[in-house]
Amino acid sequence: MPPMFQKYASMAVPRYTSYPTVPHFDSGVGGRGYAGWLEALNPAEPVSLYLHVPFCRKLCWYCGCNMKLASRYEPVADYVETLIRELELVAEHLPGRVGLSHLHFGGGTPTALEPDDLERVMDTVRAHFTVNEGAELAIESDPRTLTPEMTRRIGKLGFTRASFGIQEFDPKVQKAINRIQPEEMVVSAVNGLRDAGITGINFDLIYGLPHQTVNTLRATIAACAALKPDRLALFGYAHVPWMAKKQRLIDEAALPGAQARIDQAEAAARMISAAGYEAIGLDHFALPHDDLAIAARNGTLRRNFQGYTTDKAETLLGVGATSIGRTPSGYVQNIAETGAWARAVTSGTLPVAKGHAFQGEDTLRGHVIEALMCRGEVDLDAAILHHGGAPGCFDMDLSSLSDMERDGLVIRDGSVLRLTEAGKPLVRTVASVFDAYLSTGTARHSVAV
Ligand code: SF4
Repeated sequence: MPPMFQKYASMAVPRYTSYPTVPHFDSGVGGRGYAGWLEALNPAEPVSLYLHVPFCRKLCWYCGCNMKLASRYEPVADYVETLIRELELVAEHLPGRVGLSHLHFGGGTPTALEPDDLERVMDTVRAHFTVNEGAELAIESDPRTLTPEMTRRIGKLGFTRASFGIQEFDPKVQKAINRIQPEEMVVSAVNGLRDAGITGINFDLIYGLPHQTVNTLRATIAACAALKPDRLALFGYAHVPWMAKKQRLIDEAALPGAQARIDQAEAAARMISAAGYEAIGLDHFALPHDDLAIAARNGTLRRNFQGYTTDKAETLLGVGATSIGRTPSGYVQNIAETGAWARAVTSGTLPVAKGHAFQGEDTLRGHVIEALMCRGEVDLDAAILHHGGAPGCFDMDLSSLSDMERDGLVIRDGSVLRLTEAGKPLVRTVASVFDAYLSTGTARHSVAV
């Protein structure tokens, strides 16, 4: 990356999995408001469902997720009961039986549940929603704790996709992040799931970890490519110990510097592309036959809280502590603390902690940011026409972009704004120009690369 771009790479900007981003949610939207949003949904439109399991059997020090160490199963079993009750509660507020186009079990580690509990949750889903033909049912899995029985049950329950956090195979890096999972363990977990009928396999990789180098990443990517996951995601490690307390266990002296991070990001992207994957948006890669690659090629790629997705549903129902959902009226986030979340659900209240009701230019600006993040270009006049907005409402944003235009990150072609090849890795920084909330908050974000 040319030195003049490094000023953009070191800017702290959101990852834009929503607009406005979560730090701008507030307590103005409660359970009753959300109930009204659910009741107003069009029952003919499919929805997607996100189920959160905040428990893990092991603690990874780099983790920025809301998770709890499950040293006993009892709290997990209690959580499952509440999760089922919340699913029922959400279904009670829907305007009828709706179709499900996507389901994602995330965490934490959803495979930390007992197989019978996973089955009960899925039975509840099927009791209240119609799983549409061709729906994607995805589950995050941990190769260190995935049992043969859970593998068999994931297949039996009809899951179509499983994702694994690989991060890095180098033993020194694994020790420094407290995630020991030798290559053979991952090979066995992937083969087991494929034998059980799971056709889609995702791997997540991270660069910027302690002791990581371009060489350790090269070996990791070669080992991953040999397993042919359909999708790979490559994230930069975001060291935010003021937010993620577990990260205080990471040796900061062993973290790569800014230039080393950029070198790793660029080298890893090149290696993954050379292995036959198509680059998708900011940080995803997929084999050409995969739906995500097809969506990227035909311009239908979307972005939500799970990252890049083929999911076209306008409504995402988030169930479980800390889950985030979206309806055409706005966003909601559930209570994060599992005890308070469970008390709300048990009392028959939708357990919303905060949210954001769409207003003003929110959906217009959200569309512009999503288009830049997914397609690397946006037609601003067409966006105004489709989402409503005053002519010239982007004039100030465009004048803020003039430095980036001069530096060759973006070009303008009439009302179309397009990222250049040099600008693509800095898409978050370009998108942030259209974020009307960014300057009003106190949230701290990770650097752009
Ligand atoms: S990285 Fe995943 S498995 Fe590790 S502690 Fe965080 S949520 Fe659990």
